Amino acid sequence: MMLRFLSAIVFVGLLLSGCTTQGAREDGAAKAMHAYLAGMPKAELHLHLEGTLSPETIVRITQRNGLDYFTTVEEVKQSLTSRPPGLMGFLDHHFKSQEVMQTRQDFYDATYQLAEKLADNNIVYADVFFDPQAHTTRGVTFTDMFEGIDTGRVDAEAAFGVTINLIMCIQRERSVESALEMLDQAFPFRPRIIGLGMDSGPEYGNPPVKFRAVYSRAREEGYFLTGHHDVDVRDSIKHIWQSLDVIGMNRIDHGLNASDDAELTKELARRGICLTGSPVMRSTDPAPQDVDRIRTLDSAGVCISLNSDDPEEFESGYLTNMLILFQEASDYSKADMTRLMLNAFNSIWEPAAETNAYVAELKNYAAAHDVAWGEVMYADHSELGAE
Ligand SMILES: [Zn+2]
Repeated sequence: MMLRFLSAIVFVGLLLSGCTTQGAREDGAAKAMHAYLAGMPKAELHLHLEGTLSPETIVRITQRNGLDYFTTVEEVKQSLTSRPPGLMGFLDHHFKSQEVMQTRQDFYDATYQLAEKLADNNIVYADVFFDPQAHTTRGVTFTDMFEGIDTGRVDAEAAFGVTINLIMCIQRERSVESALEMLDQAFPFRPRIIGLGMDSGPEYGNPPVKFRAVYSRAREEGYFLTGHHDVDVRDSIKHIWQSLDVIGMNRIDHGLNASDDAELTKELARRGICLTGSPVMRSTDPAPQDVDRIRTLDSAGVCISLNSDDPEEFESGYLTNMLILFQEASDYSKADMTRLMLNAFNSIWEPAAETNAYVAELKNYAAAHDVAWGEVMYADHSELGAE
């Protein structure tokens, strides 16, 4: 009896130690994946300056400007957690927080603190959106806003080694005249602004063709073109076609509903037009959004990258954390995750020599971690997005 009892203890002990070893192995694999994603050299192509204001920065600027709201970090956090669901609820908080920015110094601080966060995430290249109309309509001059952002960008590049380019966005709910006026104001600064985008909302009722004349002039002035196509907006697929065929966008922001339309998916892959996906996680969602759509597009050979969008306003946070959440939800391999990052590097608007240098850095990183480049590349496509 005693022997049987002892045998049972040994058996349970073996089982437990087996479980522990298994658990430790899984833990080890997850840790290795997290370390790989954290250390990976990254590009971020879909990031709004106004969505990267940390509660601490908002409060610092509020106090400096003598404002009577958002005077404590708790108040900012409370506003974030109590906002209504959906895009318009999100924009309520987004607009309120960006209104604290009034002086050139405020825009400088916002940009500089963002670059520091990017460096923490091993982001070596970023395109950063900014919304001039949200500021100039409040009385901030285009010059003060832009010089603040641009000086912050240049100083941060020297301090943290992150290359940042700026994309000026049309707020789509505003008029065509207002967007054209923005282009006029931006003209003297054009060489320091790489692209023209379009954001805000609602999208339905404000389709890409509304701004055909603005985009057309921007192209003549040398801007690269992109624009938001938020997920599950009415007529999203129609809007993406407009942006491809009428506007001639160089990139598409979001645009994940393309996965619902086989012809559009095929065309995006054929043309090598890249999508900037943002599978963000919010307090109302149990997991990162749109994982299946991203998988469908990726499997079809569409150049799609992962981006953090408004990292201070979503639970998914900055890019390393978002990559970890996406990897856990998708069970993507290291090679798959590397391919999504390769797509980002291949779709930046820098001369080929610089793009190639970033790709070489990523390739070296993958090789140093035994990730086979042949598995990173698409089965039937090579260097998608490269032009
Ligand atoms: Zn966005």
